[in-house]
Formats: sequence, structure tokens, C-alpha cells
Amino acid sequence: MADGEAPNWQDALSTSLSSVNWPEDLSHIVAKLSQGTPLSMEDGKYLFQYKDLDTLGHLADTVKRSRYDNKVFFNVNVHINQTNICTLACKFCAFRRGKRAEDAYQLEIGEYIEDLRTYSNHVDEVHSVGGLHPEWGIEFYTELFKQTRKEFPHIHIKALTAVEIKHIAKLSDLSIRQTLTLLKESGLGSLPGGGAEILDDEVRQVICRGKESSSEYLEIHRTAHEIGIPTNCTMLYGTIESIEHRVLHMMKLRDLQSKTKGFQCFVPYPFLPDDSRLPEAQLATGSEILRVIAISRLMLNNIPHIKAYRMNLGDEVSELALQFGADDIDGTVQKESIMHLAGSNAPLDHDKAKLAKIVSNSGSIPIQRNTTYSSFVEFIPPIVPKRRSLRMAVGD
Ligand code: SF4
Repeated sequence: MADGEAPNWQDALSTSLSSVNWPEDLSHIVAKLSQGTPLSMEDGKYLFQYKDLDTLGHLADTVKRSRYDNKVFFNVNVHINQTNICTLACKFCAFRRGKRAEDAYQLEIGEYIEDLRTYSNHVDEVHSVGGLHPEWGIEFYTELFKQTRKEFPHIHIKALTAVEIKHIAKLSDLSIRQTLTLLKESGLGSLPGGGAEILDDEVRQVICRGKESSSEYLEIHRTAHEIGIPTNCTMLYGTIESIEHRVLHMMKLRDLQSKTKGFQCFVPYPFLPDDSRLPEAQLATGSEILRVIAISRLMLNNIPHIKAYRMNLGDEVSELALQFGADDIDGTVQKESIMHLAGSNAPLDHDKAKLAKIVSNSGSIPIQRNTTYSSFVEFIPPIVPKRRSLRMAVGD
């Protein structure tokens, strides 16, 4: 069972699709899904304009359930952002700071280790991304990962987006391949997918000028896959991109995946309005978020997992996303809740139980996985006393 999926899921999908009376105007899409034929640019655009969102969600959910039955995956990790100091200033980014900013910070290796120690008994993954620090090259990161692995051998290090890899390589006068190889040898386990934004260089010129180009993003992930580092991929939507840009973005990822098979998970997330500087952004609505999840499931037939990114979507929309084709939900332990830990497991268990509730409310069962989707355990939430609930009129 690769990646947690059912054996012969494509056959199961063909059977499930044939048992539903789909609307005539979806028949060409259903036929392709049934045969395992990748959807085209025209198909993707058609689905973005297709009016019946419920049916679109049903179709994506049918694909998800054929592949993973009623399982939804999560893992328990902690995010530690090593620095917010960044030499770039992407237009949408509210996180970065200049080196002299009052709230600029950089965690030295000892501080990072101590931060992680707080959570180390409860997580099996640390997710670390940060700004492009002007002085931190390969020596800093190889030392950081070596010490982290030495202290916490059970914790998988998922770290550094493509632009950070490019930055470290440039600072250290190394190729991308040399950089990734040294990082892997020092303990890096996988790359998160951040920084893909929209893989179109005209859009990138506006929203993240100076970041890696579309082809550099793909090349860095290709190199990682070639040397045995699995990665995720993302899409930031709701800025200035068109529907064509979104579909093309998915197709570029799908093309690379057909060659390398190194992407584990696709994480589409909408741009959130905050104090960043992108007033022209066309923010995604709730139904648009669900549509993107559903189309991701339908377009990306060779990327195994589609993630509902809870920290970005919120719990309510994430729950719906799990009925629109997503099979994975971010299981991050929120630092804020852990701050109150003081040695107790309770808040962590509470966080997992809350996640489990979101999953079971969506009609699925929560499966705790490791980072690389190679080990799975059903999560049974602790029994809690029932709360009194309001009586509802249900008729007689
Ligand atoms: S590179 Fe990353 S941290 Fe720096 S400004 Fe861009 S998005 Fe923000």
C-alpha cells in the first residue's frame, strides 16, 4: 500500500464513477477520470467555470474515496521559523523583516534546539522555513541539522523552501545539487513546498520579484527528488493570477511529477489579507477555496495527497475541504497552545482530539502518519464526557 492508498484504486474509481448518474455536461471529464487520463488545460478551465460546485465536490470526493477510502491523514509537527530576517521583500509577505527592525529575530542553534526540546516528546517532525538571512550559508544549516538530529534522532527535519536553497547555494558558492547533498548528509529529511506561489514569471514579477523563477523552483525540486529528498508542492492563489495561471501551475507540477515521482503532497492555500502590500489581490471566497481543492484532486492524478492547510483555511473550511477531495490535514501543534503546556500532555492531546473531530465530522477516520507516508496508525481520540447540547426541534 504505497502512500496509504488502496491497491487497484484506479479500478475502484472506474467502478464508483460508473455507479453515479453524473450530469451530461461532465461526461467528458468523468470518462477521462475513469480511464486514468490526465485532464487538459481546457478541462481545468472548464471546471473552474463549472457552476454546480456540489457536483464538482462529489466528483472529487469520489476520486479521494476510491484512493483512500474514508481515511484522512495527519501528522504531528511543530513549526519553528529560524529567522524573519530576509534580504528579499516579496509583495505579499507580512513575515519578513529587515535586519535592523525592532522585531527582527534570528535563532542561534542553541536557541533553536531548546525551542524544539519543548515539543520533542510530542512531535515527530519539525517544519522550519524562514527568511533569506544575509549571513547564514551552508555551514550554519549543516551544523543546525546535525545538532538537531543528534539531540532528537526521532524527529524528521522538513525544512527550507526552494528560494532558501537557492540563497544558501549562492552565499556558499555551491551548486544546487551540492547544497542539497550536503544538507541531506547533515540530516535534512524533506523539503516543504513553499514558495511555488504561482509558477508564472509575469505574476511572480509582481508578487515576489527577486524570488526564484518558475523554472528554478521546478529545477530545485527536481534535483531534490533525484538525490532522494521527497518534497511537497504548494500554490498560493487569490493574488493577481488568472484561472489559466492556476491550471498551468498544476500542470507544470504534474509534468515534473510524471518524471520524478518525488512530490508527496500538494498544498493549495489562499492569500490572506493582512498588513502586507497587495491591495490589488482578488481574495478567494469560501466556495472558491473548495473549488480549488476539488480541482486539485481532479487535475493532479499523480500527486498522491491533497492537503487542507488548517492554519490558513481555518477549521470550518478545512472540514468541508475534506469532503471536496482533500485527504490530508495539517496536524501542526500550535505553539500558542503548547506555551501553556508546563509539562502536561493535555493541550497536545486536546489539539489532536480537535483535529480528529474535524476529520470525523467530515465523514472520515483520522489516521496519524509520519512525514514520508510510510507508517500509519488510526488515531482513537480519548473519550470525553458528553457536553449538554441544545435541544433542537426535529419534528415529530
Ligand atoms: S523570500 Fe520568503 S520571507 Fe523573504 S520576503 Fe519572500 S516570502 Fe517573505
